[in-house]
Amino acid sequence: KNVTRRFSVNQPLFSAAPRELTAVHDVNLSIEKGTTLGLVGESGCGKSTLAKIVAHLLPPTSGDVLLEGKSIWHADSAMKRSLPRRIQMIFQDPVSSLNPRKSIGKSIQEALDVHRVGSSADRKKVVTDLLERVGMRAEHYVRYPHEFSGGQRQRIAIARSLVLNPDFIVCDEAVSALDVSVQAQVLNLLAELQKDFGLTYMFISHDLAVVGHVSDIIAVMYLGRLVELASAQTLFDNALHPYTQMLLAAVPVPVPGRRSASDVQTGDLPSPLTPPKGCPFNPRCTRAMPVCREETPNWLEVDKNHHVLCHLYG
Ligand code: SF4
Ligand code: MG
Repeated sequence: KNVTRRFSVNQPLFSAAPRELTAVHDVNLSIEKGTTLGLVGESGCGKSTLAKIVAHLLPPTSGDVLLEGKSIWHADSAMKRSLPRRIQMIFQDPVSSLNPRKSIGKSIQEALDVHRVGSSADRKKVVTDLLERVGMRAEHYVRYPHEFSGGQRQRIAIARSLVLNPDFIVCDEAVSALDVSVQAQVLNLLAELQKDFGLTYMFISHDLAVVGHVSDIIAVMYLGRLVELASAQTLFDNALHPYTQMLLAAVPVPVPGRRSASDVQTGDLPSPLTPPKGCPFNPRCTRAMPVCREETPNWLEVDKNHHVLCHLYG
């Protein structure tokens, strides 16, 4: 709800450049229990910052995040204690989140050990069951991260995120480092686990094709702001924002004659430190009007559950 995050930046003394940047600007969205919200945008658009705020890892400058209607950033003590269990995050690089000197079983079991859930034999059983559930084998418990492929390590990271039986998982570029065929396997696994455990996901990627594959609702982010929010179906059939249209044109489709990514003129992402005046997308927008260089558009609901930030509408 109204999530904003500013960072101060170190600038050389006497520099005229601003000392603060707004990484996330007044973002509003909601995710229904048991569904997936996909968040898409180029690197540097603020999606990882938003992910960390939502995952309770980085406080917002203003605004709040509600989990089943309750604040996580102004939480009471019971809520505060439950958050490390209820919200998990999976990152792009599972290697960095696994201790190389610990067997993967021990790494997964760590959270259970800390919370002293059951006897140590019980805890080990939970972990070996989970390993099998994510497509690994119980015998893998004693092996080390370097013995596994990237896809297997991501399965291990997923098992670790599930061990405390969370409600909500934030996946930040969770499959981006994997080959396309392995990506599909991991995405299918995440979908199965969602059904089995009633999980809610926020799934973040720079790749609209990947996000489209897993999401019920898609949010498009540009320079710290949401620019479009709609169901995945609506977004693919009837994208309204020129930036979303540009991303869609860059999604490779195996149809002869259809434009591919290389044909699309995209231009560069401006620095979030010096955002353009007016609509943040105006320097790259082929449909920009004079008003776009002066005024930031309002967040508008153009259709039921279809929001857009653009002067062309409303
Ligand atoms: Fe383009 Fe103007 Fe819409 Fe921004 S507000 S996306 S510049 S048409
Ligand atoms: Mg990122």
